[in-house]
This record gives sequence, structure tokens and C-alpha cells, in this order.
Amino acid sequence: MSADSRTVVFLASGNTHKVAELQALSERDGLALEIRSARALGGMPTVAEDTGTFAGNARKKAHALRSIAPSGSFVLADDSGVCVDYLDGGPGVESAYFAGPEGDAAANLRKLVEVMRGVPAGRRGARFYCLLLLLDAQGNERIFEGQCVGTLLDDPKGGAGFGYDPLFVPEGFSASYAELGDVVKGRLSHRAQAWAALSAWWQST
Ligand code: IMP
Repeated sequence: MSADSRTVVFLASGNTHKVAELQALSERDGLALEIRSARALGGMPTVAEDTGTFAGNARKKAHALRSIAPSGSFVLADDSGVCVDYLDGGPGVESAYFAGPEGDAAANLRKLVEVMRGVPAGRRGARFYCLLLLLDAQGNERIFEGQCVGTLLDDPKGGAGFGYDPLFVPEGFSASYAELGDVVKGRLSHRAQAWAALSAWWQST
């Protein structure tokens, strides 16, 4: 299928990993969508992710990008994070800023390693959560959610993926997402589950 016949969906994020993961999921499902980074519109407008909820933050990001997108565009926001049982669900919606307002992914990962240092294996449960919020051409909103349950390693392992991937072992596996790689992550992940819901809805319309 030529790129011209695909529906463009602008993603309210500059995170190239999210764009790549969502594009791969779309292609796997045979959807005629082109996921474009906010960078294609000159960059993601600055948004304070201060609502305290995944849906609230996703809504702010989606509308901020919609305000600079060509009128009638589809806009998608992905708000996601890691929710750790030992931290009562934290960092959760604050995952991107766990180590500070700069949103430094390496520092966030280091902080999670340190906070969990010495926590025994039986208390290292965690889940990744993803909320996808889609605005259609008229600005109508639809929300799709997904999660993936697992545990946290003591120390990061593996080089694939991004963010907290090197620390997270999905249930039923003994290696981290960053060791398992894109194919396994694309089957199991919170983003893949949320995408499956979006994809089913898209194909039903
Ligand atoms: P957001 O961009 O505000 O949604 O922030 C998401 C935060 O959760 C970032 O710190 C990401 O690193 C982390 N995160 C979300 N999804 C994933 C994932 O698939 N793997 C690893 N970290 C993730």
C-alpha cells in the first residue's frame, strides 16, 4: 500500500520508540495508518503533565497537538507508565518524571533500581499500563487501555526497548523486555494490548 493512501495519525509525543512500536503494531494488523511523530509538526508543544491521571494527561497532550495539526487530522496520545506494587502503584502516572522534571529516562531507571534495592523477590510485582486516547477528525475522543503484569529485576538487563524496559520481566518469562526484544514486547506489552483494543474498534468502524 502506498503511503499516500494511508490515514495519517499524529502522535502527541516526540518519543521515537513509541512511534515505532505503534507503527509496527498497526502494520501487523494490516491497518492503513501512518503514525507520525509530533516532530513532523515542529515538535510536541510543551504540556504540563499535571492532572494526576493517565487519561487527563493524555487528553492535554492530544489537544495540544491537535491545536497545531492540520484541521481534520486524527491525533493520538499515549500516556503510560510502570506501576510498582511496593510503591503503592508508583511511579505510575509520574513515571516520566520519577527522578525529576527533566524527564531523564536513564535517571528514572537508576532511581527505580535504587528505590527497589533490597526489596525481596516476592515483593517486586509491577505492571506496565498504557492509555491511548484518539481524537478523530471532529475532535471526538476514544480511550483504549492495556496492561502487562510482571516483576522488577534487581538490576537492568538488555539493550532493546526504552525507559524501564531493562528492569521489567513480563509474567511467564525470565528475561527483561530489553532482553526479549521487540517481537515479544509487541505481543505482550501494555501498548500492544491498548493497540489491540484501538485496532478492533478501527476495523469495526
Ligand atoms: P509518558 O511519555 O508521559 O507517557 O511517560 C511514560 C513513562 O513511562 C516514561 O518514563 C517511559 O519511559 C515509561 N514507559 C512507558 N511505556 C514504556 C515502555 O513500553 N517501556 C519502558 N518504559 C515505558
